[in-house]
Amino acid sequence: MATKCREGENGFKLPEIKFTKLFINGEFVDSVSGKTFETRDPRTGEVIARIAEGDKEDVDLAVKAARHAFDHGPWPRLAGCERGKIMMKFADLIDQHIEELATLDSLDAGKLFKMGMEMDIPGAANTLRYYAGAADKIHGETLKMSRALQGYTLREPIGVVGHIIPWNFPSTMFAIKVGPALAAGCTMVIKPAEQTPLSALYYAHLAKLAGIPDGVLNVVTGFGPTAGAAVSSHMDIDKISFTGSTEVGRLVMQAAATSNLKAVSLELGGKSPLIIFNDADVDMAVELARFAILYNKGEICVAGSRVFVQEGIYDEFVKKSAEKAKSWVVGDPFDPNVHQGPQVDKVQFEKVLKYIEHGKREGATLLTGGKACGEKGYYIEPTIFTDVKDDMLIAKDEIFGPVMSLMKFKTVEEAIERANKTRYGLAAGVVTKDLNIANRVSRSIRAGSIWVNCYFAFDHDCPFGGYKMSGFGKDMGLHSLDKYLQTKSVVTPLYDSPWL
Ligand code: ADP
Repeated sequence: MATKCREGENGFKLPEIKFTKLFINGEFVDSVSGKTFETRDPRTGEVIARIAEGDKEDVDLAVKAARHAFDHGPWPRLAGCERGKIMMKFADLIDQHIEELATLDSLDAGKLFKMGMEMDIPGAANTLRYYAGAADKIHGETLKMSRALQGYTLREPIGVVGHIIPWNFPSTMFAIKVGPALAAGCTMVIKPAEQTPLSALYYAHLAKLAGIPDGVLNVVTGFGPTAGAAVSSHMDIDKISFTGSTEVGRLVMQAAATSNLKAVSLELGGKSPLIIFNDADVDMAVELARFAILYNKGEICVAGSRVFVQEGIYDEFVKKSAEKAKSWVVGDPFDPNVHQGPQVDKVQFEKVLKYIEHGKREGATLLTGGKACGEKGYYIEPTIFTDVKDDMLIAKDEIFGPVMSLMKFKTVEEAIERANKTRYGLAAGVVTKDLNIANRVSRSIRAGSIWVNCYFAFDHDCPFGGYKMSGFGKDMGLHSLDKYLQTKSVVTPLYDSPWL
């Protein structure tokens, strides 16, 4: 297997890390305990910076600030267009700091710098603009009451929101959660993942510069079982928006249920099928399948990790996939010629390698990859298994790494049935020129996003979220505003009323 592996040959110099403290009530502050934790560079495993370690007391302070800003501050009371203006400024400031933000995400998460510059950071700015434009278009309905009553609904911000976000897309996740919540007039506490705290703190700094009032947007860095759990169980948080693993999603929901019954939305794991039919252009399908599993080194909940190929093109597909793998370059994410950086940390790196070993033991055939690469850091070769059976662990579990399971199928019915044989339901891809097959498969797969002849076709206008154990409540799209709003009915008698 000839995947090229390059290591740090562009001599990138570590930039100054400006923000390492919690952001509460408009100020960067130490944690109450004074404790800090290390955030590490997955290219080397070395420490980038020490970050304030927030815990329950810090979450309490952040919630207190957010509650005060919600109950007494200007943000929920501003005209929507004024909130929108400030959010537009926030977006402009993000655009002016693209390079710093992309650098922080690459350093923290091993993400391709080029991808951050072209996609993640400008995408975060545009997401904020999208919701800024919606901030003055939030309205209720006039009700057709059945008696002599006048009724209407108000759409009001839900209150203090807790956003718990993962490490794989620190900027995108920040924007798709914070954007609609700000537009709705909510205040919030954001708990970034412990692996990737840097950009969230930078965004907090830019939010302040943009004019977002103190207390509206707070960031508490720290660990999941401490700071994260304090957010999900807090009695004064009205809503949790969580993205992460299914296991932790369950804990978040339990915490919400046993505290104040706060509203919960969960975007969880996936094991998405990509179904390729006989009539597909094989070269295009091979490229798409590679993209679907290797983008962001497989660290994406919608990764097309189960690739079903129809029997007529299966052998050609396997041969071409093996050839293609040779041109894939794994290495320093700051190098523009590299296609795949390191996995986010040692834990994920070891977890992915364990799954690969499991796949071998289960009897799947290793077509390409299968090993770590490089002398240091958390790099893994892009790995393809063939002869994968539906009941193998590598076909069932979310691996969250560059590991593709290739499977052969005969009929449309079989493909639909096997694609649906998973507890997850986040996304699916279909490759065919036959419109009838595309339509039939799209409507039969139980998943929140179906991509026909494309993959990862995200857009801030396109709702995204899971079916089944991939969660509930959509991010992105105008409807995601609904998660941060609640409806109030107001009723008055039309005439002198017998009830009064
Ligand atoms: P992954 O397995 O991909 O690391 P997690 O679901 O563990 O994803 O993490 C996603 C987010 O959830 C992170 O911000 C993490 O700190 C947080 N988290 C982890 N454990 C808990 C918990 N018990 N309660 C609340 N949040 C948590």
